[in-house]
Amino acid sequence: MLSEQIVNPEPRIATEFENKLVCNVCEDELERPNHCDFCGKSTCSNCIVKRRKSKDDAFHPVCEYCERIFLERILILSVKKQKEELTNSLEQANVELANKRQQLYSFKNVLQNNPDSVTSEQKIQKLDEDIIEATYQKNILLSQQQEIEIEKIELKQSNMEKAQNVDIKQVKLQETLNKAQKSKDELEDIQRQIDEFLANLPILEAEQKSAITQLDFSNYEQIFRGSNLPELMNQQAIKQSQIMQQPSSKKKQEQKKECNIF
Ligand SMILES: [Zn+2]
Ligand SMILES: [Zn+2]
Repeated sequence: MLSEQIVNPEPRIATEFENKLVCNVCEDELERPNHCDFCGKSTCSNCIVKRRKSKDDAFHPVCEYCERIFLERILILSVKKQKEELTNSLEQANVELANKRQQLYSFKNVLQNNPDSVTSEQKIQKLDEDIIEATYQKNILLSQQQEIEIEKIELKQSNMEKAQNVDIKQVKLQETLNKAQKSKDELEDIQRQIDEFLANLPILEAEQKSAITQLDFSNYEQIFRGSNLPELMNQQAIKQSQIMQQPSSKKKQEQKKECNIF
């Protein structure tokens, strides 16, 4: 396709022939007439280096000169095109850059001229400060909570120890109460024995008194009468047997029991 732009559109057929047919490139004598379709000059078959496509879509012979010019033109045009493309790209980039810069400036202006933007910045700064303060307060609260937890545990332990002490004291108190109750029972038992003894005391006294009185009297009678000793002893034996048979509730019961047993 490049060739279309480069190649001479009208291949000229050489109209003039010199007397001597020589190649325009290498100056060798031509055996038969031959020419380059692009410059139209006589050229030998060795110096026809290429066949290039022309406007008529057909391939035409091209001499070495024309081929060099052709390649140079290809190169130059290619470079020119690249240069143009680069320039265009650069211009486009510059335009875009300018646009961006313009947008940036206008945005900056809007920000600077907008009182809300300043307020927003201040608000953000205030929020940051609030967050720092809140974090600080939160940490304080957390440490306080930990202290409370520790106190709670200590209090719980102390309460448990106190409860244990109270239990021990209760057990000891119960033991003391049991001992006191036992002592009380024993005392009551003794008191009952004493009461019983006291209740029987008048009877015993009366018994003793009557026995002593009778004994004394008999003695006195014997002494005063001066009777003989064997009679006195006999009388005493009779008195004693009478005393033994006299009512003493306990003795009677015991005697009855003995009777029952036998
Ligand atoms: Zn030649
Ligand atoms: Zn030529």
